[in-house]
Amino acid sequence: MGDFQEKLIEQAAAWVVESHSTVCLTGAGISTESGIPDFRSKGGIWDRFDPKDFEIRRWLASEDIRRRYWEVAQDGYNLVRNAPPSSGHFALARLSRHDHLKLLVTQNTDGLHQKAGHDPEKVVELHGTSHVCVCVGCGAKLPRPEVHARVQGGEAIPKCEDCGSLLKPDAVFFGEGLSPEKLSRAVEASKAAEVFLVAGSSLAVRPAGGLPERARKAGARLIIVNEGPTRFDAKADIRIQGKTGNVLPALVNAVLA
Ligand code: NAD
Ligand code: ZN
Repeated sequence: MGDFQEKLIEQAAAWVVESHSTVCLTGAGISTESGIPDFRSKGGIWDRFDPKDFEIRRWLASEDIRRRYWEVAQDGYNLVRNAPPSSGHFALARLSRHDHLKLLVTQNTDGLHQKAGHDPEKVVELHGTSHVCVCVGCGAKLPRPEVHARVQGGEAIPKCEDCGSLLKPDAVFFGEGLSPEKLSRAVEASKAAEVFLVAGSSLAVRPAGGLPERARKAGARLIIVNEGPTRFDAKADIRIQGKTGNVLPALVNAVLA
């Protein structure tokens, strides 16, 4: 870690220490070090599956897309289910345990924050979760591992045993609305934040990607930790370029020192 980066981390840590209300937004970038590719990486599951097929209308309309979806999702879910949390996940869980993090809003559906010991009450999974399936007909929910086992057992397109409708992961597909309760909890916390920390997101996807803007307009200091460029770099008070697995532990150590 260079001198310049260390200085930025020190300044960011000082702001977090001063803050009475810090909110963090994470994206796919915090999970790449856990072995789950983000949408933009090469050689990931997205090379075998067109993210466009996550468009809810296409998925609902085409049996072919659903068949292919569940085929690829077998490997995809195995990957997610077995992924270990990264040091970035652990660092944020530690920050929260020490009362320096009011709310963690994540765009990820992999459950790795909770797996790292983050109090689930303090996590908003804005895009839902991959660990639960929901029936598009009656709304029944069931554990994903059960559905996963059925697909592996030869049920190509799993259906609800109560009403016969389609089952889908309880994760938000493109074109689907977000849960209004979750969104308003995230928005309220962002507007009340004194420090808003972004970790591992390009901020390209809205409405999640718009939260830093809301926070900053309401007076928060904005800290962005990300490897690649983000949509909001120019507005950040501190922009730390690097891996969340290196930067977040250093930041949290500095806060708790
Ligand atoms: P994104 O793919 O748009 O951006 C990820 C960002 O993380 C990139 O800017 C990249 O430069 C950065 N990055 C990658 N590895 C990093 C690392 N180790 N340290 C620091 N930065 C790193 O992801 P997004 O903004 O989260 O949006 C994509 C959408 O896809 C989200 O809505 C999310 O729900 C979904 N998604 C979720 C998962 C998951 O649950 N793990 C995985 C892929 C996609
Ligand atoms: Zn049903």
